[in-house]
Amino acid sequence: MSAKIIPLAGVIGYPISHSKSPRMHRHWLRRYGLLGDYVPLHVQEDNLETVLRTMPKMGFVGANVTIPHKTNVMAIADQISDRATLVGAANTLIFKEDGKIYADNTDGYGFMANVRQGAPGWNPKAGPAAIFGAGGAARAIIVALADAGVPEIYLSNRTRPKAEALRAEFGARVTVVDWVQAGNMLDDAKTVINTTSLGMVGSPEFRVPLDGLKPDMVVTDIVYTPLKTRLLQEAERAGCTVVDGLGMLLHQGVPGFERWFGIRPDVDEDLRQVMLR
Ligand code: NAP
Repeated sequence: MSAKIIPLAGVIGYPISHSKSPRMHRHWLRRYGLLGDYVPLHVQEDNLETVLRTMPKMGFVGANVTIPHKTNVMAIADQISDRATLVGAANTLIFKEDGKIYADNTDGYGFMANVRQGAPGWNPKAGPAAIFGAGGAARAIIVALADAGVPEIYLSNRTRPKAEALRAEFGARVTVVDWVQAGNMLDDAKTVINTTSLGMVGSPEFRVPLDGLKPDMVVTDIVYTPLKTRLLQEAERAGCTVVDGLGMLLHQGVPGFERWFGIRPDVDEDLRQVMLR
């Protein structure tokens, strides 16, 4: 008699108790009546490789990877997608039947799918994008925007050399603007994105001057606690099209779930409500 194998997935981080990913994947598993589970995994850096090599032997079909392991995992994976290579980090792992680890990065996909869903008329080619912040999330977003044909990217970061490094890597399409002049990026931008942690509950407020906001702009903040950040409130007041950051988290989970459990899940209002509870 052959026993049914229950496919498992999880999210690996340190710490991990804050992660909302288990709630999302478990909602999808229930909703589609699938056998399986998705668990939070608290793993220290020294143990990462051992854990990853063991997981396929325990019934895991894959995992998400979050802070602080997104770059470390690149040195462990056996195969890496082009987009993860470009970003230099992975957030989604697929364990092949032979135990090999395939690493992908779906953050840029999640960002694009969220903006497309929240602002259906959005055309990334319509004009420059202004990005606040040059951390890990900004890298994934720059790769995705460049791929979508955005003509120019204005980039401003408190620590300027980090923005300069991204410019050196991603080329002439990126123009670095000093942090004290970050508000000037709004002069002719059509897409405006906060990728810093400013404005998040527990972090300082996002205080960049926002008088340059105009109604023809699509404005998004990848911070989603609170859902309506100061940037989004000001953008709404200025008549911009506004997209909150929760959908990025939801959409980035779609490709992994599909690969692990065999169904491409929907990102809809039901899921948003489950996540906001
Ligand atoms: P990260 O690599 O640590 O980058 C943090 C960014 O925030 C850097 O640009 C940093 O500037 C800037 N920053 C932090 N404190 C600042 C301050 N006091 N003043 C000015 N700038 C400051 O983090 P990340 O992974 O890119 O994530 C950034 C934010 O996005 C986090 O809040 C994270 O939760 C959120 N996020 C959301 C999603 C989603 O699905 N919605 C996905 C990924 C990340 P410096 O370089 O000067 O330090």
